[in-house]
Amino acid sequence: MDELELIADADRRAARYTAGIGTHRVFPDANAIAALAGFDEALPATGLPASDTLERLDALGTPATVASNGPDYYGFVIGASLPVAAAADRLALAWDQCASSSLNSPVADAIERVAGRWVLDILDLPRGSAVSFGTSATACGISCIAAARRELLRRQGWDFDARGLAGSPPIRAVVSDTVHVTVLKALRVLGFGLDRVERAPVDAHGRIDPARLPPLDASTLLCLQAGEVNTGEFDPFPDLIARARAAGAWVHVDGAFGLWARANPRTRPLTEGVDGADSWTTDAHKWLNTPYDGAMAICREPGVLAAAMNADAAYSTASADSQKNLGLEFSRRARGIPVWAALRTLGREGVAALVEHHCQLASRLAEGLRAHGIEVLNRVVLNQVLARLDDDEATRALQARAVDSGRIWFGPGLWQGRAAFRMSVSSWRTRAEHVDRAIALIGELATQAPARG
Ligand SMILES: *Cc1c(COP(=O)(O)O)cnc(C)c1O
Repeated sequence: MDELELIADADRRAARYTAGIGTHRVFPDANAIAALAGFDEALPATGLPASDTLERLDALGTPATVASNGPDYYGFVIGASLPVAAAADRLALAWDQCASSSLNSPVADAIERVAGRWVLDILDLPRGSAVSFGTSATACGISCIAAARRELLRRQGWDFDARGLAGSPPIRAVVSDTVHVTVLKALRVLGFGLDRVERAPVDAHGRIDPARLPPLDASTLLCLQAGEVNTGEFDPFPDLIARARAAGAWVHVDGAFGLWARANPRTRPLTEGVDGADSWTTDAHKWLNTPYDGAMAICREPGVLAAAMNADAAYSTASADSQKNLGLEFSRRARGIPVWAALRTLGREGVAALVEHHCQLASRLAEGLRAHGIEVLNRVVLNQVLARLDDDEATRALQARAVDSGRIWFGPGLWQGRAAFRMSVSSWRTRAEHVDRAIALIGELATQAPARG
């Protein structure tokens, strides 16, 4: 098979998969998983035919996929992929651009500049901010936090690049008690020391309680949340950010999915004041429904991010705002292309409608669960529904049975020390009929839960 036939073959298989997306099991069955052992071959000494490799990928791989790109997946905030974002990514794959700077790829550079501008526009963040496209909110968070610490030290006269951390003035990190694990990972990887990270107590909804915020100062990095991962709630930004500003602290916002609430006029008030922060991270692969992987690090002072992330070399100079000088990667594909494609095709109204639709469906889901006597633990201000049965064991059993059915997927959770299950509406494919089906299935399974104790 020549190159074009091979690509056509892959496209046919991909089309077949996509056409059947709502009909397969949502999580693969034991047989499909056992068959993955077929991949466990010895590395061939002599290469095998490309067509055979593709055939194997489809035959063994396809049945073992998780249908997170389908309508019945409510796990985490995974998100599906919008057709245009997936299609643009396919074309970009043929281009195989290294999107580090205009020297490597004028087209990637041009599109990512537009995509970055549009991201600031739709999220209504300060227009001159730097936007770095990265792999994930985790990686983008590492960039932002590294830049923040370097800048807090610089303001105290400490040259972090030359001297590192040995003997440096201490920099404090204050995080929400419900901080996402990946922010803790970023802090740990960067050497903040988990025992030294200060936890801000939260209210019943998982938002930082301003009355109990640890004192802030000019050596503090305050990490806030736009969209708590269980409840979908938002920290009270106006109050917290005003205090941080007065103290000279740096405010970083983890808005992996929740920042997109800002693109929808009805949910925008939840994010009030978030634009006062210094840096933000958000994902494209979650709520914007671009394919994995793609995320953005956004920094109000472009020079701060650019100074921290610069990767110029004698053989590879580029403007300070080139992507390789704003993020962790030196070489990467153009993650801004599917973002550009999604935003251009949805437009401002389309993004608002996507967010609103998911919030409405989450409310519908919560109401439907309640009608079956299932306790909904959160206020459902966004697209997250956190629920439980009367006891922990029954709650876990329900989640496990739902997943075993192959008709739906959502994950277990833990909220205020009690077992819960967590459902997130974040696939453009999910419609009211899917949510109604989910409610009926969960309602039926809830009646079969073990005797309540
Ligand atoms: C998913 C998520 C992250 C991490 O994002 P990745 O893109 O998976 O690295 C961080 N914070 C919150 C609130 C999330 O939901």
